[in-house]
Amino acid sequence: MAGDRALSEVAGVGPQLAGRLAGLGLERETDLLFHLPLRYEDRTCLTPLRQVRAGSGVQVEGRIVHREVRQGRQRMLLATLADDTGQITLRLFRFYPSQLSQFSPGRRLRCFGEVRPGPTGLEMAHPQCLDLADGASPPLPQSLTPIYPTTQGLGQARLSRLIGAALERLQEGTLELADLLPASDLFPTLRNALITIHAPAPGEPLQALIEGYHPAVQRLAQEELLAHHLALARVNRARARQRAPALDDPDGKVSRLLATLPFEPTGAQLRVIDDIRHDLARRQPMRRLLQGDVGSGKTVVAAAALVTATATGHQAAIVAPTEILAEQHYQTLSEYLAPLGIEPVWLAGKVQGRARSEVLERLAGDAAVAVGTHALFQKAVAFRDLALVIVDEQHRFGVHQRLALADKGRKGSLQPHQLVMTATPIPRTLAMTAYAGLDISVLDELPPGRKPVTTVAASQQRRPEVIARLRQALSERRQAYWVCPLIEESELLEAEAAETRARELARELAEFRVGLIHGRMKASEKQAVMADFNAGAIGLLVATTVIEVGVDVPNASLMIIENAERLGLSQLHQLRGRVGRGSDQAACVLLYKPPLGETARARLEVMRETTDGFVIAEKDLELRGPGEVLGTRQTGALRFRIADLARDEALLDRVQHLATRLDEQQARQLIERWIGPAEQFVDV
Ligand code: ADP
Ligand code: MG
Repeated sequence: MAGDRALSEVAGVGPQLAGRLAGLGLERETDLLFHLPLRYEDRTCLTPLRQVRAGSGVQVEGRIVHREVRQGRQRMLLATLADDTGQITLRLFRFYPSQLSQFSPGRRLRCFGEVRPGPTGLEMAHPQCLDLADGASPPLPQSLTPIYPTTQGLGQARLSRLIGAALERLQEGTLELADLLPASDLFPTLRNALITIHAPAPGEPLQALIEGYHPAVQRLAQEELLAHHLALARVNRARARQRAPALDDPDGKVSRLLATLPFEPTGAQLRVIDDIRHDLARRQPMRRLLQGDVGSGKTVVAAAALVTATATGHQAAIVAPTEILAEQHYQTLSEYLAPLGIEPVWLAGKVQGRARSEVLERLAGDAAVAVGTHALFQKAVAFRDLALVIVDEQHRFGVHQRLALADKGRKGSLQPHQLVMTATPIPRTLAMTAYAGLDISVLDELPPGRKPVTTVAASQQRRPEVIARLRQALSERRQAYWVCPLIEESELLEAEAAETRARELARELAEFRVGLIHGRMKASEKQAVMADFNAGAIGLLVATTVIEVGVDVPNASLMIIENAERLGLSQLHQLRGRVGRGSDQAACVLLYKPPLGETARARLEVMRETTDGFVIAEKDLELRGPGEVLGTRQTGALRFRIADLARDEALLDRVQHLATRLDEQQARQLIERWIGPAEQFVDV
């Protein structure tokens, strides 16, 4: 990158400007070249005034023939610009005295602006004007004018000039950018791609440039994806140097576990158990993500992993994000593991005093399996020999918490193995990049006999019909959920809404028992309600989205979701997964408040059409974009400057291939260009 200077060293860039540029992530001259335009203006030609049409940005040239200042609620400057073919009104809502003279009759101006219809014909509001001295007509630009994203205190003109200067240096060769990708007929060279993007010729397809489908932008996106791919490869190489205890199951305990289950494991379960067993047998720490749709049977896989890890005397832990979910795991795993003589130890925040001391003692001693909440992450907890950590529903945990538990297990230079289980099906393409450094297994087969949940969308006006249907189901001794999701971003308001709804429904359905569960209840209250619902004593459970994860009551076969139009696809899918776990045909009613916006309509449509979590995740990606799909809490997820995983999926294969053709030096340069100092990727 010969000739590349820090921006603070560029003439005319003082500390203040340098600071503002840094705010946009622009530190060096080459960074300017990777700051892409938001849109373009066509100033390459002049439009005769008679041909000007409303709705587009045009450039015109003419003489001011009339000017007036309107007094009113707001002072306003109106001027009429005329050429040989026609005239147009220029309107300024705010103006300086200097502009008053700029618009004096007789002055010649070149104006660029958006044209719209006004009370007396076409007008331009606040045009950008260039004064033309008598007879002069400066040359028009040869290329389209880029408009860049900018920031407070940094004007468009100034930023454009800086970027333009860097581009000029690139063109004349005083600023060099190494072209690290092999030449290809699909994409332009880096230099040409940048020139096309910053100074497109008038005929270039602008929409493609702006949306990023243009080969010039694709060239950059590809390079950025490649840089991330290479950085990831470094992470993986570093991981390969880490050590973990090799775990095996010499007495075939996993086979015994599977033989005692009340059902046959699915092919997918067996396959994933095998993946994990293979990982655990190695002296490198496993870092595996298990994606399995709701109800796909992840708990069995977790049990097999726990059994493998503890078969030769090491310890293993499984952590869940909520107490309800952790408790459910505790119960299920206690059953699964009992025939093998393994009794899990339970730790949650509410375990206090003597009980807690005893648990801590057992964890430091002979306990094999621990089940709990993030309480297992606490400082005071010390394991004797933690060799495997399973984290369920990872999207609720920060990456840092995950690492904290891994640290607990660190024994000398040994790291525990890690399995992360998520019920949020993330499109494969996204998962590879978003969960950098994790291997991925997918439970892509549901246990047999499941009937897909029938889903309908109904406007709130049809509530009476829905109540009738609910009454029918309850009278057949089936159970149901009524979900009141977040209406405002407040747990308190959400809880209140659920309380109100529960009272109403209890009145309307007086012959049945209606329960309530929400995030503001005490853990013990929640558990009591869940126990009653589990036992069938409660027919209808009114809930906030706290039931989203982990609740498993097979007899519940009807779910009504209020305000469904406000929920994202993944969340709707998670909620709906709570029904359809038993043998009854299950149904889900999505109640919405009309009128429906376009995205909401599209979402409800997807929910009606499919129950496949991966299809839903792909659609979610299309409708919302990757940032949203992963959620804001997803601290480990990558952000891109130019690439867009939904748009650029097709590039990923090529990126893998290209990665094998670069040498160490080129890889390093690419990582530095796009991500930052390469050194940070050697330590995980
Ligand atoms: P997940 O955690 O992936 O949502 P669970 O592990 O809670 O799914 O399993 C969902 C339900 O399916 C449970 O009731 C479980 O007993 C049952 N189940 C799991 N595996 C099988 C299987 N192979 N055959 C039949 N039922 C199964
Ligand atoms: Mg589960």
